[in-house]
Amino acid sequence: MTSSDELRKRREQEAIRIRTSLNRLRGEQRASLKGGETAVAFVEERLCIGCDQCTIVCDDDAIEMYKVDMVSPLIHVESNQKAKILRADCTGCRLCVLACPTDAITMIDR
Ligand code: SF4
Ligand code: SF4
Repeated sequence: MTSSDELRKRREQEAIRIRTSLNRLRGEQRASLKGGETAVAFVEERLCIGCDQCTIVCDDDAIEMYKVDMVSPLIHVESNQKAKILRADCTGCRLCVLACPTDAITMIDR
C-alpha cells in the first residue's frame, strides 16, 4: 500500500511535471485568455471529472474539491468529487485553465 509520504512525493513530482509542460504552452495560450485582477476562474461542474489537477497548479489555494453524488444510481463509487473556485482567493493567474484536461475551467469577469 502507498504510504502518505510516497503519495506526497509523487504529488510533488507530478506538480513539477505539470508546471514544466505548462510553461511550454503558457505563452501562446495565455495571450488569448482573460486574466489578472479583473478576472476569476469558473468551473463548469458538468465538465469536471474531479481529477484534482487544478488544485495542484493553483499556488493561491483558491480551489477546493467537494463531494457530489453520482448522476447514475447504477454506478457506485465511494468518492465522486468536483472542483470549486474560491473567488476571493483567485488571483486570475489562469494556470488552472491550462491544467484542466476537460476544459472545464474558463476565466470570467470578476
Ligand atoms: S486562476 Fe490561478 S489563482 Fe485562480 S483558481 Fe486558477 S490557478 Fe488558482
Ligand atoms: S482540472 Fe478540471 S476536471 Fe480536473 S478537477 Fe480541476 S476542474 Fe475538474
